[in-house]
Amino acid sequence: MGDIGQQSSDQQEINITWKGKTYPIHVSPEDTVQVIKRKLEIHTTVQTKRQKLLVKSTSGPLTDDTRISTLIIKPKQKIVMLGAPEEDITSLQQAAEVAPEIQDDLDFVEEIDLPLDQQPIIQERLQRRIASVEPKILNPPRPGKKLLILDIDYTIFDLGSAAERPEELARPHLHEFMSTVYQHYDLAIWSATSMKWVEVKMKELGVTTHPDYKITFMLDHKAMLTVNHPKYGVFDCKPLDFIWAKWEGYHKGNTIMFDDLKRNFVLNKENGLVIVPYRKSHRNREVDRELMYLKRYLMLIVERGMEDMNVLRHKHWKRYLLEWNEKN
Ligand code: MG
Repeated sequence: MGDIGQQSSDQQEINITWKGKTYPIHVSPEDTVQVIKRKLEIHTTVQTKRQKLLVKSTSGPLTDDTRISTLIIKPKQKIVMLGAPEEDITSLQQAAEVAPEIQDDLDFVEEIDLPLDQQPIIQERLQRRIASVEPKILNPPRPGKKLLILDIDYTIFDLGSAAERPEELARPHLHEFMSTVYQHYDLAIWSATSMKWVEVKMKELGVTTHPDYKITFMLDHKAMLTVNHPKYGVFDCKPLDFIWAKWEGYHKGNTIMFDDLKRNFVLNKENGLVIVPYRKSHRNREVDRELMYLKRYLMLIVERGMEDMNVLRHKHWKRYLLEWNEKN
């Protein structure tokens, strides 16, 4: 790809690479970095203020006023440019502006009630799901046990971080939590991803192969329901009625679901517990004790003989835990 503009004998060619393409830029040693950036803007449409050039200068930190003669460039070196064109940034910002309203507004489920005229549609969709979608059953339900349903991403697994081994991304105390509550709760997994991913992830984390507990069943996005709220828009949620229709032994009074996204409970507000999202595991691995406290909460529910969990409002679970511990 050729450069634009005039070339004179004292000009040098600098090769810049951006998104896998190389752009030869012709500049004079007396020019500044700003000149490179202006030429790059014409080629790439990335605005000069958005561009970052990964190159060092003998004159100190790189600025737009740095002279090209001071750049430390090896023969044949391609200088990497970072930056996104405006249209990409705009669509990213739009996505970010839409997403938090749904994902981060933790209180909206409390106030959200789907309009009555939607109820028949939802019932109809739900019936279709129940008729057409089969859970992945790994082990038979155990009579008399309660049911705990766990989301995966950011509930028991840090999706956003990188690690050499998947176990490093498991929420701390996961297996201890599972092994203990398994005494009284059947365990199920429900993720908004695909069953293939669920299976791989649970195997990698050692959840489906653990000797001290068993997973009863797993569900994916296929069992989720789309709802359309006039204020909060269209989103998918996890309808517990799907599970209650599939098994007689599980019902509103003995089911609890952990998820970091409150909107997933929109059809079952009383049965959902919003868990603090588990992120940045490299930093939080040592300090996150959420599952230790939740283990205590679930065990105390049983120890206190609560047959009907609906007497609890799970959003106050930490307060209950404090009160119960004081009385013990
Ligand atoms: Mg999640």
